[in-house]
Amino acid sequence: MTLAPLIIMSGPSGSGKSTLIRATVAESKVPLRLAISATTRPRRPGEIDGVDYHFWSLEQFQQRLAEGAFLEHAQVHGKHYYGTPRSEVDGYRERGVGVILDIDVQGAALVRPLYPDHLSVFVALSDPATYGRRLRQRGSESEETIARRMATAGRELDRVKEYQYVILNDDLEHAVHRLLDLIEQHRNHSQGDDDAR
Ligand code: 5GP
Repeated sequence: MTLAPLIIMSGPSGSGKSTLIRATVAESKVPLRLAISATTRPRRPGEIDGVDYHFWSLEQFQQRLAEGAFLEHAQVHGKHYYGTPRSEVDGYRERGVGVILDIDVQGAALVRPLYPDHLSVFVALSDPATYGRRLRQRGSESEETIARRMATAGRELDRVKEYQYVILNDDLEHAVHRLLDLIEQHRNHSQGDDDAR
Protein backbone atom coordinates (compact mmCIF):
# COMPACT_ATOMS: atom_id res chain seq x y z
CA MET A 1 0.00 0.00 0.00
CA THR A 2 1.27 3.48 -0.87
CA LEU A 3 1.67 5.81 2.09
CA ALA A 4 1.09 9.54 1.75
CA PRO A 5 4.27 11.24 0.50
CA LEU A 6 7.29 12.14 2.62
CA ILE A 7 8.96 15.20 1.13
CA ILE A 8 12.47 16.19 2.23
CA MET A 9 13.24 19.86 1.60
CA SER A 10 16.51 21.69 2.17
CA GLY A 11 17.96 24.99 1.05
CA PRO A 12 20.09 27.83 2.40
CA SER A 13 18.78 30.50 4.77
CA GLY A 14 17.33 33.27 2.66
CA SER A 15 16.14 30.89 -0.10
CA GLY A 16 12.53 31.51 0.93
CA LYS A 17 12.05 27.79 1.62
CA SER A 18 9.70 28.25 4.61
CA THR A 19 7.42 30.63 2.69
CA LEU A 20 7.42 28.26 -0.29
CA ILE A 21 6.46 25.31 1.94
CA ARG A 22 3.67 27.19 3.71
CA ALA A 23 2.17 28.41 0.43
CA THR A 24 2.38 24.89 -1.03
CA VAL A 25 0.64 23.33 1.99
CA ALA A 26 -2.11 25.97 1.70
CA GLU A 27 -2.64 25.42 -2.04
CA SER A 28 -2.30 21.63 -2.18
CA LYS A 29 -5.42 19.66 -3.12
CA VAL A 30 -4.10 16.56 -1.32
CA PRO A 31 -3.64 16.77 2.47
CA LEU A 32 -0.12 17.92 3.37
CA ARG A 33 1.49 19.22 6.53
CA LEU A 34 4.84 20.65 7.55
CA ALA A 35 6.44 18.61 10.34
CA ILE A 36 7.15 20.80 13.35
CA SER A 37 10.78 20.39 14.37
CA ALA A 38 12.22 20.87 17.82
CA THR A 39 15.05 23.34 18.30
CA THR A 40 17.24 24.80 21.01
CA ARG A 41 17.59 28.12 19.15
CA PRO A 42 15.86 31.14 20.74
CA ARG A 43 12.44 32.11 19.48
CA ARG A 44 12.35 35.02 17.00
CA PRO A 45 9.76 37.76 17.46
CA GLY A 46 6.43 36.51 16.12
CA GLU A 47 7.31 32.80 16.31
CA ILE A 48 4.94 30.59 18.30
CA ASP A 49 5.97 27.57 20.36
CA GLY A 50 4.33 24.41 18.96
CA VAL A 51 3.50 26.15 15.67
CA ASP A 52 6.81 27.29 14.16
CA TYR A 53 8.95 24.96 16.25
CA HIS A 54 8.86 23.14 19.55
CA PHE A 55 11.27 25.46 21.38
CA TRP A 56 13.06 23.20 23.86
CA SER A 57 15.91 23.87 26.27
CA LEU A 58 19.14 21.97 25.68
CA GLU A 59 18.25 19.71 28.66
CA GLN A 60 14.80 18.91 27.24
CA PHE A 61 16.29 18.26 23.81
CA GLN A 62 18.97 15.93 25.21
CA GLN A 63 16.41 14.04 27.29
CA ARG A 64 14.15 13.44 24.24
CA LEU A 65 17.21 12.40 22.27
CA ALA A 66 18.14 9.83 24.92
CA GLU A 67 14.54 8.53 24.81
CA GLY A 68 14.91 7.94 21.06
CA ALA A 69 12.18 10.45 20.19
CA PHE A 70 13.96 11.87 17.13
CA LEU A 71 13.99 10.56 13.59
CA GLU A 72 17.10 12.66 13.00
CA HIS A 73 18.83 15.60 14.60
CA ALA A 74 21.74 17.89 13.75
CA GLN A 75 23.64 20.90 14.96
CA VAL A 76 22.89 23.51 12.30
CA HIS A 77 25.04 26.57 11.56
CA GLY A 78 27.53 25.05 14.03
CA LYS A 79 25.45 26.19 16.95
CA HIS A 80 21.91 25.18 17.93
CA TYR A 81 20.32 21.73 17.77
CA TYR A 82 17.39 20.94 15.50
CA GLY A 83 15.55 17.62 15.22
CA THR A 84 12.47 15.96 13.75
CA PRO A 85 10.34 14.20 16.38
CA ARG A 86 9.16 10.77 15.12
CA SER A 87 5.62 11.69 16.19
CA GLU A 88 5.59 14.38 13.46
CA VAL A 89 5.84 11.86 10.61
CA ASP A 90 4.63 8.25 10.67
CA GLY A 91 1.14 8.58 12.16
CA TYR A 92 0.24 11.32 9.69
CA ARG A 93 1.41 9.39 6.64
CA GLU A 94 -0.56 6.33 7.76
CA ARG A 95 -3.67 8.51 7.98
CA GLY A 96 -3.14 9.76 4.41
CA VAL A 97 -1.53 13.10 5.21
CA GLY A 98 1.68 13.88 3.30
CA VAL A 99 4.52 15.26 5.43
CA ILE A 100 7.09 17.88 4.43
CA LEU A 101 10.38 18.02 6.35
CA ASP A 102 12.21 21.36 6.27
CA ILE A 103 15.64 20.12 7.36
CA ASP A 104 19.29 20.86 6.68
CA VAL A 105 21.60 18.80 4.45
CA GLN A 106 22.88 16.71 7.39
CA GLY A 107 19.36 15.78 8.52
CA ALA A 108 18.33 15.01 4.93
CA ALA A 109 21.23 12.55 4.57
CA LEU A 110 20.04 10.74 7.73
CA VAL A 111 16.37 10.58 6.69
CA ARG A 112 16.86 9.47 3.06
CA PRO A 113 17.73 5.83 3.83
CA LEU A 114 14.90 5.56 6.39
CA TYR A 115 12.25 6.38 3.77
CA PRO A 116 13.28 5.01 0.36
CA ASP A 117 9.94 6.22 -1.08
CA HIS A 118 10.77 9.89 -0.30
CA LEU A 119 10.74 12.86 -2.64
CA SER A 120 13.71 15.22 -2.09
CA VAL A 121 13.89 18.84 -3.23
CA PHE A 122 16.58 21.48 -2.80
CA VAL A 123 15.46 25.12 -2.89
CA ALA A 124 17.93 27.66 -4.31
CA LEU A 125 18.06 31.10 -5.91
CA SER A 126 19.69 31.93 -9.25
CA ASP A 127 21.43 35.04 -7.89
CA PRO A 128 23.70 34.18 -4.90
CA ALA A 129 23.64 37.82 -3.68
CA THR A 130 19.91 37.50 -2.91
CA TYR A 131 20.42 35.10 0.07
CA GLY A 132 22.16 37.76 2.15
CA ARG A 133 19.79 40.50 1.03
CA ARG A 134 16.71 38.49 2.08
CA LEU A 135 18.27 37.63 5.45
CA ARG A 136 18.94 41.31 6.14
CA GLN A 137 15.39 42.24 5.11
CA ARG A 138 14.10 39.88 7.79
CA GLY A 139 15.59 42.34 10.29
CA SER A 140 15.75 39.79 13.12
CA GLU A 141 19.33 38.58 12.65
CA SER A 142 22.60 40.07 13.86
CA GLU A 143 25.47 40.52 11.39
CA GLU A 144 27.28 37.66 13.16
CA THR A 145 24.29 35.33 12.62
CA ILE A 146 24.00 36.41 8.98
CA ALA A 147 27.71 35.72 8.41
CA ARG A 148 27.37 32.24 9.97
CA ARG A 149 24.30 31.48 7.86
CA MET A 150 26.02 32.62 4.67
CA ALA A 151 28.97 30.31 5.40
CA THR A 152 26.53 27.41 5.88
CA ALA A 153 24.78 28.38 2.62
CA GLY A 154 28.00 27.82 0.65
CA ARG A 155 28.46 24.35 2.19
CA GLU A 156 24.81 23.44 1.56
CA LEU A 157 24.96 24.49 -2.09
CA ASP A 158 27.87 22.07 -2.55
CA ARG A 159 25.50 19.18 -1.70
CA VAL A 160 22.69 20.04 -4.09
CA LYS A 161 23.43 16.91 -6.18
CA GLU A 162 22.22 14.72 -3.31
CA TYR A 163 18.65 15.83 -4.06
CA GLN A 164 16.31 14.49 -6.74
CA TYR A 165 15.14 17.96 -7.81
CA VAL A 166 16.16 21.61 -7.48
CA ILE A 167 13.56 24.37 -7.45
CA LEU A 168 14.71 27.93 -8.14
CA ASN A 169 12.64 30.14 -5.85
CA ASP A 170 13.18 33.43 -7.71
CA ASP A 171 9.43 33.76 -8.14
CA LEU A 172 7.23 32.34 -5.34
CA GLU A 173 4.10 31.54 -7.40
CA HIS A 174 6.16 29.75 -10.01
CA ALA A 175 8.03 27.76 -7.35
CA VAL A 176 4.79 26.73 -5.59
CA HIS A 177 3.38 25.36 -8.84
CA ARG A 178 6.59 23.50 -9.60
CA LEU A 179 6.56 21.90 -6.14
CA LEU A 180 2.85 20.97 -6.42
CA ASP A 181 3.57 19.37 -9.82
CA LEU A 182 6.51 17.37 -8.43
CA ILE A 183 4.36 16.10 -5.54
CA GLU A 184 1.58 15.09 -7.95
CA GLN A 185 4.05 13.30 -10.27
CA HIS A 186 5.60 11.51 -7.29
CA ARG A 187 2.16 10.32 -6.07
CA ASN A 188 1.19 9.07 -9.54
CA HIS A 189 4.49 7.27 -9.86
CA SER A 190 4.18 5.60 -6.43
CA GLN A 191 0.60 4.56 -7.16
CA GLY A 192 1.74 3.19 -10.53
CA ASP A 193 4.32 1.04 -8.72
CA ASP A 194 1.53 -0.30 -6.49
CA ASP A 195 -0.77 -1.08 -9.43
CA ALA A 196 2.03 -2.97 -11.17
CA ARG A 197 2.43 -5.32 -8.16
P1 5GP B 1 16.02 28.51 11.20
O1 5GP B 1 16.86 28.70 12.42
O2 5GP B 1 16.25 29.58 10.17
O3 5GP B 1 14.56 28.31 11.50
O4 5GP B 1 16.49 27.14 10.53
C1 5GP B 1 17.83 26.92 10.27
C2 5GP B 1 18.02 25.64 9.48
O5 5GP B 1 17.67 24.50 10.28
C3 5GP B 1 17.18 25.52 8.21
O6 5GP B 1 18.03 25.19 7.14
C4 5GP B 1 16.25 24.38 8.47
O7 5GP B 1 16.00 23.62 7.31
C5 5GP B 1 17.03 23.55 9.49
N1 5GP B 1 16.14 22.73 10.30
C6 5GP B 1 14.94 23.06 10.80
N2 5GP B 1 14.40 22.03 11.47
C7 5GP B 1 15.28 21.00 11.37
C8 5GP B 1 15.29 19.65 11.83
O8 5GP B 1 14.35 19.16 12.48
N3 5GP B 1 16.38 18.90 11.54
C9 5GP B 1 17.44 19.39 10.83
N4 5GP B 1 18.45 18.56 10.58
N5 5GP B 1 17.46 20.65 10.37
C10 5GP B 1 16.40 21.44 10.63
